[in-house]
Amino acid sequence: MFDNLSEKLGGILDRLTGRGALSEADVDAAMREIRRALLEADVALEVVRSFTERVREQAVGATVVKSVKPGQMVVKIVHDELVATLGSDVQALDLNTVPPVPIMMVGLQGSGKTTTTAKLARRLTERDKRKVLMASLDVYRPAAMEQLAVLGRDLGIDTLPIVAGQQPAQIARRAIEAAKLGGYDVVMLDTAGRTTLDEAMMTEAAEIKAVANPHEVLLVADSLTGQDAVNLARAFDTQVGLTGIALTRIDGDGRGGAALSMRAVTGKPIKLMGTGEKTDALEDFHPSRIAGRILGMGDVVSLVEKAAATLDAEKAAAVAEKMRKGKFDLVDMRDQLLQMSKMGGIGGLMGLMPGIAKMKNQIAAAGIDDKILNRQIAIIDSMTREERKNPDILKASRKKRIAAGCGLKVEDVNKLLKMHRNMADMMKAVGRGKGGPMAGLAKA
Ligand code: GDP
Repeated sequence: MFDNLSEKLGGILDRLTGRGALSEADVDAAMREIRRALLEADVALEVVRSFTERVREQAVGATVVKSVKPGQMVVKIVHDELVATLGSDVQALDLNTVPPVPIMMVGLQGSGKTTTTAKLARRLTERDKRKVLMASLDVYRPAAMEQLAVLGRDLGIDTLPIVAGQQPAQIARRAIEAAKLGGYDVVMLDTAGRTTLDEAMMTEAAEIKAVANPHEVLLVADSLTGQDAVNLARAFDTQVGLTGIALTRIDGDGRGGAALSMRAVTGKPIKLMGTGEKTDALEDFHPSRIAGRILGMGDVVSLVEKAAATLDAEKAAAVAEKMRKGKFDLVDMRDQLLQMSKMGGIGGLMGLMPGIAKMKNQIAAAGIDDKILNRQIAIIDSMTREERKNPDILKASRKKRIAAGCGLKVEDVNKLLKMHRNMADMMKAVGRGKGGPMAGLAKA
């Protein structure tokens, strides 16, 4: 999986990183090539479009970081967008409810549903120490029921006894009853698939869902089927409702389109991936690892991350130097506000700075929240360069003009100026070794 795409993207980005400067035309040309590579990998058109658009926007607007070539910056942007498209973080199964937790497996025949049911049951039993009951609801293929029973016997995991003549919803009810009586933690419902998407399968799945009230409804989809898997996911999600996707045959030579499109098209996370026929070949789906595998440029990505961190550190050092000298104008304040909002706003800062958490109530009482950060930056942006350097010249008429410029009130401008004075005083105090870095902020 991903080999072809990986090779193509690698080639395109290699050519970019070799250059010293990048024009908008260079970026556009690269985006066209990336677009073609993604389409060839069978990624859904809508996903390709928004992906290349987002990368282009960021690549053109990216701030140049010292010691990083523009092309390397683009690699990092492509990498981050790949991670975001794949779903950002690992999404674990949610088993947080009163046991027995019902997990319903849906999907087409041959997608790997029964195998994945057994794989997951094995993992829940061995790794998570849960007591699992598996039930096959496939009343159309006795062989399917027998297949699950055999897998259960091999793994030492219980399966619901087969009773001839029952309907799928009845079996689901019986499975849940048995799981309750038997003190099971999890009950897995392996539903019947069809060879193609059809209404009867959807209706049946919806009926089972209504009876079993499953905590997880996982679509098992074969990654080799590309776009079909994506359409299937969309249909199941609208008609039955999914909580996640298990993508099988990641070990095969699929082009990767399904993996890259599923999340973006359905909004549902890929929670698991099957990487082989054996029952231990099941893994969590890690968007960052998969993106790394597709791009294979981990060193460039970490280089850019480090350079960006150094840049922030250099800026912080420059501000500290000004503090020491007792100089702190509105340009510096804007830098500080921007840094704060980059670091996750007030909430993020609280977590980062020792001692700040204690001031939480004061900060809240002063009405400082993350929206305020942006408003304050907007006020400073409405000033002239001279005003930013020398706020003392700000008299009534200038304040009125600034307020109008950013759509706020003179009162807001006054508040910002007061906060600036407090911060400047506090900076001087810090320079002399008094007070915490947020002291002035809390007084504003
Ligand atoms: P079901 O009809 O959806 O229940 O599909 P099965 O579970 O019977 O799987 C069909 C075939 O796919 C079996 O031969 C499985 O061994 C195989 N299979 C399932 N998952 C994977 C996987 O992740 N990788 C590989 N290589 N084969 C798989």
